[in-house]
Amino acid sequence: MRTTASVLHLDLDAFFASVEQRDKPSLRGRPVIVGGIGQRGVVSTASYEARVHGVRSAMRMAEARARCPHAAFLSGRFDAYREASALVMGRLRQESPLVEPLSLDEAFVDLAAGEESDLSPDAVLDRVETLRADIRDLTEGLTASVGVASSKLMAKIASEIRKPDGTFVVAPGTELDLLGPMQVTAIPGVGPATAERLRRVGVVTVDDLRAREEDELVRLLGSASGRSLVRLSRADDDRPVVAEREAKSVSVEDTFADDVTDRARLEAVVERMARRVADRLRRGQLSGRTVTLKIRYHDFETHTRSTTLAGPTDSPTILARNAQALLAATDLGGGLRLVGVGVSGLADWVQDDLFDSDADDHDEPLDELLDEPGPATRTASDWSPGADVHHRDHGDGWVWGAGLGRVTVRFETRLTPPGPVHTFAADDPALEPGHAGPTRPRTPLAAEPGDDPAGTPPGSLGDGR
Ligand SMILES: [Mg+2]
Repeated sequence: MRTTASVLHLDLDAFFASVEQRDKPSLRGRPVIVGGIGQRGVVSTASYEARVHGVRSAMRMAEARARCPHAAFLSGRFDAYREASALVMGRLRQESPLVEPLSLDEAFVDLAAGEESDLSPDAVLDRVETLRADIRDLTEGLTASVGVASSKLMAKIASEIRKPDGTFVVAPGTELDLLGPMQVTAIPGVGPATAERLRRVGVVTVDDLRAREEDELVRLLGSASGRSLVRLSRADDDRPVVAEREAKSVSVEDTFADDVTDRARLEAVVERMARRVADRLRRGQLSGRTVTLKIRYHDFETHTRSTTLAGPTDSPTILARNAQALLAATDLGGGLRLVGVGVSGLADWVQDDLFDSDADDHDEPLDELLDEPGPATRTASDWSPGADVHHRDHGDGWVWGAGLGRVTVRFETRLTPPGPVHTFAADDPALEPGHAGPTRPRTPLAAEPGDDPAGTPPGSLGDGR
């Protein structure tokens, strides 16, 4: 823990949903839910208007529909999210050379690594308000919440306190007073399952946690989680902010069609991946010391956990055992969308191109999904709700709903007032994917804003083939 509040955590507010509201004027001020649109889909982000109805990230889409049937249900436009994210990350790099992105909408910044500056809480608060105003300008209206504190833990917790569109600076020395009365779930990594185990033994707040012996928590939660929780409950956290670097590594990762919550299945996947990594190390006559497990949650939050061995290895058994241990220490939350296993710390003579030719490597699996060329003749299922489109005569708009061989488009953009809707045949040659293109075909299910003058869209009635 530092003596200055110089670790900044920034989190964009309801990011995916806010980008949609920015680009779709008719959805501003209305509930918007972005996520897997199919029956087994999960909510990635709900706008604040939808949260009022109890819709949350990680909730089954079916439940979200039941709670907020009048919301717009959109399948997401990752190109647009990436573009906004790049603007924000670029602005953060003006604050400090040390920026550690956690996901598209979240990053740590080490303010002490930049030019020498006043790190008193008041000065930091002023600086953050300028930063947030700049982000709003650059992104044309997106808001961010920021926490600044003496550690990553407290900065992350602080960014929640004034959310949305707020700043909280934790003055050094006040960490424990702030943290103590909070629920244990305020500590990152304490998911519902861990919280429930703790609740059964009478631990609800962080103060309760601090009153317990480390041995008891280790017995309850296992040694890695138990010990780390004891440290974090005392706000004892000296993890550095680490900028992303190009690291030489051998890795394998895979995206699941559905979010996986079954631990046994994940263990089997991780075991297989570790053996594939070992196989490739051996083929390349390589060995490495650091074993990394990468996971991506349903909401695209991505984490890596690593363990460094005493010496380099290419043993499938050792790699599998270490990768399994990292998985065991991971909260599965609402399910995992992606898992990867990698080894780094390789010898310098590694040939970079050794890995480029391997079809098993997916750096950005979503890119591949999004870049698939469309079929020659489009059907309703090729138009996913929310996707950008362009019509030869009507201009730019987005897919409002699709089904029964038809697609309904609302013609509006971020720069126009709310626009009209028109319905076309799904294979209308005048209609093409717009800037971001239709996302991966999914079960079409339209947004159905109840009071819309255009009436009920044709979506949710089948695939129109
Ligand atoms: Mg966020």
